[in-house]
Amino acid sequence: MKKTPIAALLILIHILPSPIFAQQKVPILIYHSIDKYNGLGSKELYVTPQNFEEQMRYLRDHGFTLFTFERWQDMNKVNKPIFITFDDGYKNNWNVIEIFQKLRNERFQPTATFFVISDFIGRSNRLSQSDLKRIAVEGMISIQSHTATHPDLTKVENYPYELKVSKDKIEQITNKPVVALAYPFGAVNKKVIEETKKYYSFGVTTIPEKFQKTGGKDELYLLPRIYIKYSTSLEEFAKIVEVE
Ligand SMILES: [Zn+2]
Repeated sequence: MKKTPIAALLILIHILPSPIFAQQKVPILIYHSIDKYNGLGSKELYVTPQNFEEQMRYLRDHGFTLFTFERWQDMNKVNKPIFITFDDGYKNNWNVIEIFQKLRNERFQPTATFFVISDFIGRSNRLSQSDLKRIAVEGMISIQSHTATHPDLTKVENYPYELKVSKDKIEQITNKPVVALAYPFGAVNKKVIEETKKYYSFGVTTIPEKFQKTGGKDELYLLPRIYIKYSTSLEEFAKIVEVE
């Protein structure tokens, strides 16, 4: 009689999903420029360094683990995984590194993904080859592909140039694997997924929701991402990243 509750409990422990392995909703955030708005282009594609630092401090102080695509299979082993991504390879993304260096400590190891456009590397307001080399060696940032020329991939013909040549060029610069592609404008269809699969393990869109594993055939090529904007307040940021 006395043993029954313990036996029942043991059975329950085996039946109930462990919280570590439970399917969690994972936010993948998208940023562009981390800088003061200079009046050029769309203001909402900027986040000030001050706001970005507050947002990253929030993640640090609320137990998030910043993650990159190479470590995808380890995602369920960590607490509150989140991806921080930057599109277009702007020079001002150096501010990200500076802020990460300021915030990192033994417990919080910030990391992010820069999606760079391979033909734009070295343009005046973009990261140069030597920037990317330095960033890759420093090790906090994963540098991935945002194609060669930033076309709408649903309308191009030369997939090998946009997908393979860009990947090869970035790998040559960083000496690290390129496994993820950010579709320009978030534009994707069946054909684009089919071509992306030849060279990449992941494709990221701008579908504004958190990732939740469904086992769908192409889910790793339709990863959603949520914009953080110039106007996003810290309260809104907290709502976006916290699991509801
Ligand atoms: Zn872009």
